Amino acid sequence: MPDAQVVVVGAGPVGLLLAGELRLGGAGVLVLERLEEPTTESRASTLHARTMEIFDSRGLWDGVDGPVGDARGHFAGIPVDLTLPGSRPGLWKVPQTDTERLLARRAAGLGADIRRGQEVRAVTDTGAYVEVDTGDQVVRAAWLVACDGEDSTVRRLLGADFPGHDARRELLRADVAGIEIPDRRFERLPDGLAVAARRADGVTRIMVHEHGAPVPVRTGPPAYEEIARAWKRVTGEDVGGGTPLWVNAFDDTTRQLAHYRHGRVLFAGDAAHRQPPIGGQALNLGLHDAFDLGWKLAAEVTGRARPGLLDTYHAERHPVGARTLSSIEAQALLLFGGPEVEPVRALLTELIGHEPVRAHLAAMIGGLDVPYEGAGVRLPHINELLPVGKGLLPGPADTTTRGNPPCP
Ligand SMILES: Cc1cc2nc3c(=O)[nH]c(=O)nc-3n(C[C@H](O)[C@H](O)[C@H](O)COP(=O)(O)OP(=O)(O)OC[C@H]3O[C@@H](n4cnc5c(N)ncnc54)[C@H](O)[C@@H]3O)c2cc1C
Repeated sequence: MPDAQVVVVGAGPVGLLLAGELRLGGAGVLVLERLEEPTTESRASTLHARTMEIFDSRGLWDGVDGPVGDARGHFAGIPVDLTLPGSRPGLWKVPQTDTERLLARRAAGLGADIRRGQEVRAVTDTGAYVEVDTGDQVVRAAWLVACDGEDSTVRRLLGADFPGHDARRELLRADVAGIEIPDRRFERLPDGLAVAARRADGVTRIMVHEHGAPVPVRTGPPAYEEIARAWKRVTGEDVGGGTPLWVNAFDDTTRQLAHYRHGRVLFAGDAAHRQPPIGGQALNLGLHDAFDLGWKLAAEVTGRARPGLLDTYHAERHPVGARTLSSIEAQALLLFGGPEVEPVRALLTELIGHEPVRAHLAAMIGGLDVPYEGAGVRLPHINELLPVGKGLLPGPADTTTRGNPPCP
């Protein structure tokens, strides 16, 4: 007998949402996370409309102040009004650390066993079960879901086919205290792109891309001096005297797993697709993977799934991932490109002035236009009709704590 019905590798946002969804569907869940404590790194901060609807349906903000929304979004830095029918159109700013804390609270509250300081080092799929070795313990599980991020260990151990392309361009960024510079929203300058946003606490996030700069092979974050020098070359401003609180570089490496399922191992979030965090899409895409997979895998392990249900996860989410990655690539080309992309940007700006184009982009950015075979389109106000934490169909036993989203 396996020790766990499902082992989730990684307690990032995707693994934590998945753990809660699996518990909601009645599955036993063990989460293995290599970090002793949750990360404090400043990462994604944008939740889009569909993610907010999912979180509302799960009562994620219960007992805490929910975020404040803003209808002003963008595509490649070109402003797009995100107003659409629905309960939560727009951008919602939530530090990823807060999202993870709330998702961890929910998963643990629903009974997920979250073990920290457990780094998965070996995975064997025997066909009957999956064996996971963390050095400290060997665990057998009926299923394993790899939510272990963009450098996924499980993906490497399985040698999974991960086609795409390596880095071509890079953006440097830093959160800096003690500097006074003008705010810049995607300012296009002759030598590159510069963004600066001062927060209420006086810390300024700067981001800079230099046209034609080679992308170095990095084994860690860049030195602040390197970022300050690039900022000076692109904007002419000296930020070298500031105090860096966080430094980071990201590039436009884009890859997607050929298959989201390998036998008894499934992949979700950044482990399944790697993309630059342009437009705040990466986190939201991964959370939607988890939401789709959770009830299907729970139905599988509790014996309620119809034949083939679990395979609809790859069938549905892989095309959505491919489309999102393509949209991010289009934005990367338009953002990081030099003067040669200006005519395309001008044309796109003109097109966004037409309501059908604006609404199309707003729905795509918000994740509101994802069709599921047999389920048709999303109903904009369905969340307001559903009780918190439940789905349309009653769960197998305890309908106060279990429920399933609508079947595809
Ligand atoms: C430095 C950085 C900055 C980012 N900035 C932005 C941004 O500005 N905007 C944006 O939209 N997105 C940003 N992203 C992307 C966003 O944070 C991710 O899309 C999101 O975190 C994906 O969630 P995840 O759960 O799939 O993966 P992760 O959040 O990466 O979580 C994976 C988890 O798995 C754990 N893990 C890894 N290997 C093992 C193992 N072998 N055993 C056990 N546990 C393991 C990790 O410790 C981690 O907790 C950034 C990502 C990074 C890394």
